[in-house]
Amino acid sequence: MNKPTKIKELTSHEVSQLLTDKKFSKLKPSNCSQCGEKKRFLRRIFKVNGVAESKHSDDKTQNNIRLQFKQEYSIDFIFFKTHDGRFFVDSAVCEDCKSTAIVYDIDLFDPDTISEISKLTGQSKEEIIMGLRKTSDMLENE
Ligand SMILES: [Zn+2]
Repeated sequence: MNKPTKIKELTSHEVSQLLTDKKFSKLKPSNCSQCGEKKRFLRRIFKVNGVAESKHSDDKTQNNIRLQFKQEYSIDFIFFKTHDGRFFVDSAVCEDCKSTAIVYDIDLFDPDTISEISKLTGQSKEEIIMGLRKTSDMLENE
């Protein structure tokens, strides 16, 4: 028998504390797949207990948890994050249309991401930021 998985929603205070952590908040809600909203999301984060660390990225484990979120919380899209050895489920609600099918993306302009790209490509940070601006302008004008 597997140990039961226990899911506990963080309070809004715990959520805002966790979101001050740069590593945790790198991947964040970027787009509502229903109405296209890009900014106003209510974040809901859950701590998952009873899952061994070796199983955090296991497909079967994640699918079971996904199913549980659909059934118990009516949340369509969730994202798994391991942070400081703890296992979290990150989700968001669109404040406009209340959809939970929110697409997550990495914040392109995050300073840590930019220095990583700089190391990988040998471009200066300024060049990278300019390139990213052009790309995101193109995407917005689509
Ligand atoms: Zn929406």
